[in-house]
Amino acid sequence: MKPLGPGRREDVPGQPGRLCQPLQRKAARPSSMSRGMLRRAGPSLRHFLLERNSSAGHSSCSREAKMSRPVQARRLEGIDKNFWVEFVKLAATYSKVNLGQGFPDFPAPDFLTEALTRALSGGSHMLHQYTRGFGHPPLVKVLAQFFEKLLGRDLDPMTNVMVTVGAYHALFCCFQALVDEGDEVIIIEPFFDCYESMVKMAGGTPVFVPLRPNPPKDGKLMSSADWQLDPAELASKFSERTKAIVLNSPSNPLGKVFSRGELGVIAELCVKHDVLCISDEVYEWLVYDGKQHIRIGSLQGMWDRTVVVGSAGKTFSVTGWKVGWVVGPDRLIQHLRTVHQNSVYHCATIAQEAVAQGFQRELMLYGKPESYFVQLPKELQQKRDWLVQSLDDVGMKPIIPEGTYFLVADISQFKSDVPDVPNSDEPYDYRFTKWMVKNKGLAAIPLSAFYSEAHKNNYTNFIRFCFAKEDATLKAANDILQKWKQEKISS
Ligand code: PMP
Repeated sequence: MKPLGPGRREDVPGQPGRLCQPLQRKAARPSSMSRGMLRRAGPSLRHFLLERNSSAGHSSCSREAKMSRPVQARRLEGIDKNFWVEFVKLAATYSKVNLGQGFPDFPAPDFLTEALTRALSGGSHMLHQYTRGFGHPPLVKVLAQFFEKLLGRDLDPMTNVMVTVGAYHALFCCFQALVDEGDEVIIIEPFFDCYESMVKMAGGTPVFVPLRPNPPKDGKLMSSADWQLDPAELASKFSERTKAIVLNSPSNPLGKVFSRGELGVIAELCVKHDVLCISDEVYEWLVYDGKQHIRIGSLQGMWDRTVVVGSAGKTFSVTGWKVGWVVGPDRLIQHLRTVHQNSVYHCATIAQEAVAQGFQRELMLYGKPESYFVQLPKELQQKRDWLVQSLDDVGMKPIIPEGTYFLVADISQFKSDVPDVPNSDEPYDYRFTKWMVKNKGLAAIPLSAFYSEAHKNNYTNFIRFCFAKEDATLKAANDILQKWKQEKISS
């Protein structure tokens, strides 16, 4: 059981509502035992005194509260561990340069922060109160207008669009609303890690299909486009138990932008097997080299079976605002609304208002050079190229991403610095990234964290970097890598 927090009430027979805290304090050091006595006692006596005391204290407090039945809901079994907790903490403790977690360290666009300031001080005082649960009306309206343009169909803001607490909550609503016990959900590896646990929490079974790397024969650097689905292998994963497939294009962590042909294969299988598509498009504007982001919901037969997931965090470089959305047919979205109304009411009204104004601006500037959706990918492409160059130069072979703000690199040539431990339970790339942040101050994320348990061990020679960073941050990363290279040469 969780220990009682300070001041938490626990009923003790005969003393209803008595606070446990005084008992716990006593347990730490009885009044008869001074600090000096404790200091003078040898280590084993000190240990004994404290142990005896704390167990006496605990039993007097928790004897009545101790439960023998399991407290954890069964649906949480096997999903309680999350590598982000450990890696975010390691980065916070050791990193001089953090290219791990995916968030920009450059400022949000002025027009958005100004919209927030206006909403905060000059706007209606009602912006500090609850708004419509399924989405602040100005935001759902402008999202509907925007996506009408992108998807080429009429949208009703009240039924085809729903605002969520970031894309994360949108995904949670999708899985809870659409996946039943016994349903299978196809997930393309490598994948944004929460898909697996969210499917399991809903009672479903994830079925994994990997993107297979085909390195170019001419010795050129690999691109995320060289990682492809085998159409026969993908087809073999569909069965009558398949309820949905999760598509993430542009994809985290590889940065793959699925081509029209690849999406066509997926769409055909969805239609043939009457399967839903949960299309995570949070990086929709971050596409490089003139590539185009194709929306699977716009392909024939797909609108009726697709939920599109989006994020203001990625779209406007404000990951901390946690404003996300879903767009799709009412026959699907209505069930997501049921989860939504029974989980959270909504995210901050004021953040939704500012995001709505951001979209108003982008609607006016759509396709123009001043548009943030045109400028941001241009800037990020330069940052990507810079990091590609820097990694290639030191021999950490980058896989050039076609989109997103992530880049995966091959660490094979650096293995001698971090020797393998045979029969270790920990994948090599986990050990490598931990070693790198502790010894070099550079934080990244192991690629195998984005694979299922069964396939993890096939992909332990890669790590993921985030390049949505200030030029100074990328330069500092380059300095670390160059110094490391020199040390390798001279050792
Ligand atoms: N989907 C993908 C693919 C992501 O990478 C992320 C964030 N890393 C999310 C969803 C969640 O987005 P948000 O921060 O809006 O919740």
